[in-house]
Order: sequence, then structure tokens, then C-alpha cells
Amino acid sequence: MQWLGLAAGLLVAVTAGAQTPNDLSRCLAELEAPARQAGVSAATWREHTTGLVSEPRVIAALNTQPEFSTPIWDYLAVLVDDERVAQGQAMLSTHAVVLRRVHERFGVDPATVVAVWGVESNYGQGFGRYPIVQALATLSCEGRRQTFFRGELFAALRIVQAGHFPAERFVGSWAGAFGHTQFMPTTFERLAVDFDGDGRADLMGNTADALASTAHFLQRAGWKDGQVWGFEVQMPNGAVPASGEGRRVKRDAGHWRSLGLRRADGNALPANLPQAGLMRPAGPQGPAFLVMRNFDAVFSYNAAESYGLAIAHLADRLRGGAPFVTAWPTDDPGLSRADRRNLQTLLLMRGHDIGEVDGALGERSRAAIRAEQARLGWPVDGRAGQRLLQALRQP
Ligand code: CA
Repeated sequence: MQWLGLAAGLLVAVTAGAQTPNDLSRCLAELEAPARQAGVSAATWREHTTGLVSEPRVIAALNTQPEFSTPIWDYLAVLVDDERVAQGQAMLSTHAVVLRRVHERFGVDPATVVAVWGVESNYGQGFGRYPIVQALATLSCEGRRQTFFRGELFAALRIVQAGHFPAERFVGSWAGAFGHTQFMPTTFERLAVDFDGDGRADLMGNTADALASTAHFLQRAGWKDGQVWGFEVQMPNGAVPASGEGRRVKRDAGHWRSLGLRRADGNALPANLPQAGLMRPAGPQGPAFLVMRNFDAVFSYNAAESYGLAIAHLADRLRGGAPFVTAWPTDDPGLSRADRRNLQTLLLMRGHDIGEVDGALGERSRAAIRAEQARLGWPVDGRAGQRLLQALRQP
């Protein structure tokens, strides 16, 4: 979901550093009247905003969103790794009946829905731990995008007021997204579905509700059942001028065929190819993709091409598809979560106090990585790829 936290949290563990919380009372006093106009009662406002202080980690996270700040090969290496493919395939089997009914009702196939679930919360294994009202109050009073987050804060308070979730259990990402597939509060109000019919759209406690709500979102975003999101292509060098490129620049099959584009496996483009845009997220040297309207539907879940590609590719892998054919333009490919755990173990063996081996490279792991980079005489940037993993395996 927009400004998601969990996919982000897997990549960058944000810590508060030296920041201390700020008193939000003056800012919140100014927000009470608009909140009342937005349907938040005086009692709800008082109960849930009195004495709130800011959460500095929320602002730190706002400023380090990995889908924009991480190289795409690192982003995809952790979000589409063998573990997530295997677990997703197990989920497809475990939830086959619900997923089939969701497909029938909303026209979104099981692999796509499960891919969103896998990226957003690792199949329900991590929802985020930020109290949502506090996180959104912080974002409403500090940082950029305050206007957007105020709308989400008021929605979060309406959700608590309506009794959908008890306030103490209403926790989620730093950006206020919550549940199995990380809906923002306004999205919950607009699109959440009570699929099991118990009277509640329980996106935190009920898998069927969460999967159906995700399919509902994609359906409303224009998903076309039976169409692919797109696929990897190969293209002659210099075939496409920069002005003819981009997710939004949709052209028909004849155009792409005339430029010599083929599927990545060398086959011709399908005869019935709908309008498609050319996307090269790492520039002309990396993998190239033709993307169609279903990619745009996923993109609307979280507006980043890297995010859309993670969902789309994971869905393909869940269906048995292969990794991309063209390599990313780097001599130091990214690390899966298993690689990251191996790296952390090697750092521990070298005496670095990095805490728990959890596959998430937080501040202490990054500090250890920088120390090893300095020891090796490498540029010290705190990023770990396959090269450092190999180097640490040497005695
Ligand atoms: Ca329900």
C-alpha cells in the first residue's frame, strides 16, 4: 500500500538515532476542528490524541523509502527470493478454496493476490508494530505530505471510533498501513471486504477478508482477468529513443514488433498483445519489460516501479516462472534473506555485535558492513552485495 512499511522494513531497519519525540499538542489542537468535520467525535479525539508525542522513527522512515532509495537489484533480491516463492506456493495450496472464490468474485487470480500478501506482510508474518494513530499524528504534523497524512489520521480515528479494531491492537507500518496486505485507513474505509461473512472486515485477523479486500482493490484499479501484467523482452541496442519509453507510453504490438522487440526467450511478441509500455527500471543495460494495464493496477497499490515489478515477478515465480533472463547492470548482485542471514553470521564470527541473525540489515549490521569495507580497502557505503558475502567467506 502507499508508502508501505513492511517491504520497507525488511530492507532498511530505521532507528531513531539521537532524535527525541516532540510534543504534538499544539499541532493537534489545530487539527481538532477539521477532524470533527471529518466525522471524528470530540470524545474519540480526546481519548486518542491527548498527550501524543511524535515517533521520530516514522519521519526517518519517510525520508528513506527503499523502493526509491535502494538499487532495484537489492530490492528485488530480498522481496523475490526462493524462500518467498516457496512459502507463497504453500499459501496458494493452503488457501486454495478461498483464493478460488476470491478469483470468481473479483476477477483477480490467486498468484497475484498471494504475491501482494507475500511482499506486504511476508504472508501475515509481520504487520508492523507502530501504533497507527501515533504514527499518523506524527506524519500529520511533521515532514512532507502532511495534508495527505491528515486525511489518513482522521480515517484511522473513524475506524477506531467505529470499533473495527481496538486502539491498542491498531498497529501497523510507520506510514499507517495495517493488516495482512497493509491497507491505508482511507483504503480500508473504501474497499475492505467482509468475505467470510462474520460482520467484520478484519484485515488483521482474517486471511479471507484480507485476500478478498486486496483483490477488490486491484479490481477497482482496473485489473483485467486473463491478461498478463507484462513480460520481459529483449531488444536490439538503441532500438527505442528515450522519448518513446515508459510505463505510461502505451503503444500497440505493431510498433514494438517494428522495433525488433521479442520475448526474453527469443520468441516473437504474442499476436494479440494489448497496448503496452516499455519499462527499463535500471536503464538501457538492464532487463526490459513490456507492461500492460495490469501492471498499472499493481502500481496503484504502491506507486513505485520497483514495487510493481516485485509483485508482478513474484506472481510469475509462484506460477512456476523463471527468474529474469537479462542480468541487472551490476557486478555485485543483491542478497536474498538467506544470504543476509549468512552475512550476519559471518559478521558475528568476525566479532561484530550485530544482534540477532534475522536477515534484516539494521543499523548495527550496517555499521559492521562499513567496518569490513574499510578493512578491505573498499568504498565504505554500508551496502552489502554478493561481493562482500564472498569476501567474508575468505579466512
Ligand atoms: Ca470477516
